[in-house]
Amino acid sequence: MPGMLYLVPTPIGNLSDISIRCKETLENADFIAAEDTRVTLKLLNHLGIKKSLVSYYEHNKAFKGSVIVERILAGETCALVSDAGSPAISDPGEDLVKECAQAGITVCAIPGPCAAITALSISGQSTGRFCFEGFLSTAKKSRREHLEALKTEQRTMIFYEAPHKLLATLESMAEAFGGDRPISLCRELTKLHEEVIRTTLQGAIDLYNQQPPKGEFVLIVAGAEPVVEEAATPEDAAKRVAQLMESGISRKDAIKQTAQELNLPKNVVYDAALNI
Ligand code: SAM
Repeated sequence: MPGMLYLVPTPIGNLSDISIRCKETLENADFIAAEDTRVTLKLLNHLGIKKSLVSYYEHNKAFKGSVIVERILAGETCALVSDAGSPAISDPGEDLVKECAQAGITVCAIPGPCAAITALSISGQSTGRFCFEGFLSTAKKSRREHLEALKTEQRTMIFYEAPHKLLATLESMAEAFGGDRPISLCRELTKLHEEVIRTTLQGAIDLYNQQPPKGEFVLIVAGAEPVVEEAATPEDAAKRVAQLMESGISRKDAIKQTAQELNLPKNVVYDAALNI
C-alpha cells in the first residue's frame, strides 16, 4: 500500500496559529519534507515533536522530489511544510504535489494559514472576485509584461513581494495601472508589527520613499473600473448602414446587421437610415 502526502500549513508569524490537526499530522507522519529544515526544526521544538526531516527546496526539488515519491510509494507517509503558510502556494511544494498526483499518490491538504487569504480578508478591498498573481519577476521587462496583461483586470489582485523589491514593484504597478489605483499593503501579518496601509499606488510610493519598507508584504490591488461602453446613436447607425450598403449589402440586410452590431432596435436603425 502506498503512503500519502499531507500538505501541512504552518504559522506565518504567530506560532499559536498551528492547528491541532496539523500537529497530529506532523506527529504521525513517517517523515517531514521541509523547505528550510532549520525553520521547521524551530517549529517542531516548539511543538515538542521529534521527527526525521528531509530538505525539499527550489534548488534540490528536481532530484529530491523523486526520492520522496519513491518513499511514499513504498508505504511511508510524508508531511510537507514550507517556511511559512500553505505549502504549494508560491513555493516548491507545487512541484511535489504534481509529481505525487502523477504517481497516483493521494494528496491531502490541511486548511490553515495562508498569507494571501489572510491579507485579502483584512484589505478592505472587494473580496467577491479575486486573482492570485504571486511574485512578479525581478526582470523589468517581464514584470512590465505581467502588469500590462493585468491592466484591465477587474478582479482584486493579490501579489507577494519582498521588502527590497517593493518600491520598484509599486513604480511598475503605477506605470501600468495609474497612480490613483487603490492598494492595501498588508505587512507582518499575525506578528507584533502587523500593519495594513490602505492607500493608492502613488501614496505607497511616496510613503516608502520616505521610510524604507521592512518586513514581509502582501499587496492587495483593486481591480480596474469596468469600462462603460457608450450607447450607439442614430447617427452611428446611419453611417454603418451606408457603409454596408456601399459594400453591396441590401438596405434590409444592412439595417438588420447594424441593429445587431450596435445593439439598437431595428425600427431606430430603420428611421435613421431613411435618408440614405
Ligand atoms: N506559501 C506561503 C503562503 O501562501 O502563505 C507563502 C510563501 S512565499 C515564498 C512568501 C511570501 O508570502 C512573502 O514574500 C510575503 O509576500 C508573504 N508572507 C508570508 N508571511 C507573511 C506575513 N506574515 N505577512 C505578510 N506577508 C507574508
